[in-house]
Amino acid sequence: MILVIFILLIVVSCTSSENRDDESPVYKDKNAPIESRVRDLIGRMTIEEKIYQLTQVAFGKNMNINNIGGEMDKIPPEMGSIIYVNQDPAVRNALQKKAIEDSRLGIPILFANDIIHGFKTIYPISLGQACSWNPEIVKQACAVAAKESRSSGIDWTFSPMVDVARDPRWGRVAEGYGEDPYANAVFSIASVQGYQGDDLGDENTIAACLKHYVGYGASEGGRDYVYTEISKQTLWDTYLPPFEAGVNAGAATIMSGFHDISGVPASANYYTLTEVLKEKWGFNGFVVSDWNSVKQLRSQGVAGSDREATLKAITAGVDMDMADGLYLENVAELIKDGSLPVARLDDAVSRVLRLKFQLALFDRPYVLEVPEEERYLLPEYLLVAEKLAEESTVLLKNEHKTLPISKKASLAIIGPMAKEQENLLGSWSAHGEAKDVISIYEAMQQEFPDSKIIYAKGCDFEGIDKTGFSEALNVARKAEIVVLCLGEKNSWSGENASRSTISLPEIQEDLLTELSRLNKPIVLLLTNGRPLELGRIEPHCQSIVEMWQPGVVGGNPVAGIISGRINPSGKLAMTFPFATGQIPIYYNMRQQGRPRSGKYQDITTEPLFEFTHGLSYTSFKYGELKADKDTITKTEKLVIDISVSNIGDRDGAEVVHWFVTDPVSTVSRPVKELRYFEKQMIRAGQANVFRFEIDPMRDLSYVDELGNRMLESGEYYISVNNKKVKISLID
Ligand code: BGC
Repeated sequence: MILVIFILLIVVSCTSSENRDDESPVYKDKNAPIESRVRDLIGRMTIEEKIYQLTQVAFGKNMNINNIGGEMDKIPPEMGSIIYVNQDPAVRNALQKKAIEDSRLGIPILFANDIIHGFKTIYPISLGQACSWNPEIVKQACAVAAKESRSSGIDWTFSPMVDVARDPRWGRVAEGYGEDPYANAVFSIASVQGYQGDDLGDENTIAACLKHYVGYGASEGGRDYVYTEISKQTLWDTYLPPFEAGVNAGAATIMSGFHDISGVPASANYYTLTEVLKEKWGFNGFVVSDWNSVKQLRSQGVAGSDREATLKAITAGVDMDMADGLYLENVAELIKDGSLPVARLDDAVSRVLRLKFQLALFDRPYVLEVPEEERYLLPEYLLVAEKLAEESTVLLKNEHKTLPISKKASLAIIGPMAKEQENLLGSWSAHGEAKDVISIYEAMQQEFPDSKIIYAKGCDFEGIDKTGFSEALNVARKAEIVVLCLGEKNSWSGENASRSTISLPEIQEDLLTELSRLNKPIVLLLTNGRPLELGRIEPHCQSIVEMWQPGVVGGNPVAGIISGRINPSGKLAMTFPFATGQIPIYYNMRQQGRPRSGKYQDITTEPLFEFTHGLSYTSFKYGELKADKDTITKTEKLVIDISVSNIGDRDGAEVVHWFVTDPVSTVSRPVKELRYFEKQMIRAGQANVFRFEIDPMRDLSYVDELGNRMLESGEYYISVNNKKVKISLID
């Protein structure tokens, strides 16, 4: 009892002293614990000041310090956060100065932007990154993005997007890590660690934001902003794991979404935002809405007024309101009339302030104004981007070893993508500039200095103008090999960029078909932001290289692959259907009653290129799977090895994917589930051992529809490639 009174006295005295000392307030003391600083500051704030902290507005593009006066005046110094669509640290510092000097409490602004795959040093889109199966290099790329961002005045990125996506019609598949929950979880962790480093207070780190919480990737028909139908079981099995992994890795923030999760919009979803995220997982960062998604609760049919939309969002757990200004308009009134408890307001504000303290914004509000050439595209940054792009590239087909091509072969480089720069950057390319991108044509010229290279565009990306075909055919006739550069413009993927069929436009397919009549080997280079339907054109190509949207290093990696300087090691993180009509098609479908039936009558049921498909210039031979036990209890561990030999004549990296199958379970499980992967370089003529240590609770369990982890005794299969081994789990 005495102890309790003593503790209470300390708490009371701390709180009151925090609030009383106006000369040197606790929140300004950089040596005080963050929680005391947060508490002290909240104790000093008016309701209005609190609401500002929960508000984020955008600050225009291409503004420089000399002409933004009027724009700046529009931003009140109390503003919580700004989406800073600029790259000048001086502008940010000027805005920050206003916040620090002109507001009563001097609370710094939090500057945010969409740094999705690089700030200036743009690296491949996330879907491409996932095909590298190399989380370490992804982490390094995010660290580069963090450095370029922070030195340009950005403290917080709206990335990574970890929406599992299985419908390639949806343009935003480009922004995530593919169709598998485990892969998304691994890259979620890697990017959070890359952006945030070990300490958010460091000058080189930024806060990450996992988005779009949760299930946005299930958008019906692959259309953006629409309804998603997600059972609780699928929510837990498929969509939540990458978020949980990112939260456990310390992600500072989470973004809700535009979508509706089975009748309850993501931005008004108390279950996902509060019960799961904040209560079950103990997330102590903050939730930001997606752009205008609070206001959109009205068009989603769950709020009849802005006031009601505000109440629903903040009550559900959205802490900061992006763009629509609804919190600013309505929260004070909601507090006044008692609809919203002050405790919820304070909780939201404390989450935002906590991050500002963690980022050391109170102690170091300004950024150093370093010249651009010292901040951007540094050689070491470009090396990371190049390595990631090399590893993201997937060799889909290589008939008769058409690739690599001899350094002396004469080449016809044809196609609308050949001389492109802008379209190699991909969607959301922040401050990346087309002029910095190396085109495929330029890279090929550098890679093949002794070859005769001739070029023809052939056609545009779309349309019906075939007048360029004859020049393309003439050029092709004069060469030994045709390198055909086709694909999607970057505006065809990303937000609000769905496509109803995922094939290349007819004109591009026709160009390829015409060229194939010349009977010259065709090497097809694809630049795109989603899996494509290649069923009609694949038979006409001897080789196909999927280079995704590689970013600023552009054509370099693919040129290196064509010449053989680089041995490709990428493997697909998302299935390439044979035809759009097969969608949804993904490797980890649930088991079905008649496994051999239910096929399409008109086309194959198989994809054209399956999940994890990807070729190398060397050959790998898999040995047998060896488990150190065949039976374990639920608390024992088991180690399985497999030896992989490089039986070709050049070094190559191989990715081993480990799958688990649980054939009989209370809840039907997928036919197989990825539980681990590893990439290793294997020297020619050598064998490497790949090892998977199975922890039953982590690797053999599943989560039920209430989020309870279940581990059931019985038989399991562990598989790698076409090898599998049975293990028994006993109580
Ligand atoms: C997108 C988000 C993005 C936000 C801010 C929204 O339209 O859905 O992914 O972070 O805008 O730019």
